[in-house]
Amino acid sequence: MTQTFEQWCGDLEARLSRNQQRLTPQRRLIARVLHGHDGHVNVDDLHQLVRRKDKSVGYATVYRMLKLLEDYELVQTNTFVDGTARYEIASKHHSHHDHLVCKECGTVVEFENEEIERLQELVAAQLGFDLVDHKMVLYGRPKLGTCCAKH
Ligand SMILES: [Zn+2]
Ligand SMILES: [Zn+2]
Ligand SMILES: [Zn+2]
Repeated sequence: MTQTFEQWCGDLEARLSRNQQRLTPQRRLIARVLHGHDGHVNVDDLHQLVRRKDKSVGYATVYRMLKLLEDYELVQTNTFVDGTARYEIASKHHSHHDHLVCKECGTVVEFENEEIERLQELVAAQLGFDLVDHKMVLYGRPKLGTCCAKH
């Protein structure tokens, strides 16, 4: 189940107020643009998108906001191919997914596989742990006719 922006933003405001902080208009704008994005955006691109709506928002503000969201576990971060961190909305209410990245063009494909999820919990349990989090990224070369491999 994906949360609406208002639900996700409500979680953010609750976390901020617990830390004696406010959701300023600039922070709210950054949150809205991020939530409206289809995911896997880096700081530069998010900053550009936010500046289209409000030119006064600086790079550092966007960067700090993303770090804050990361601390609050309201975004998920992945570094897939080019070494820049990419952000997407996450929270315990969001359905979990993993990623496959095209080695040729960097396209990110999301997938969910219950069996893989279950196996990871099993592996952790066998090693004496409760699994609390994981990141799994598959890297692949496209077969003909998929992704960027046209013919
Ligand atoms: Zn997973
Ligand atoms: Zn994703
Ligand atoms: Zn590709």
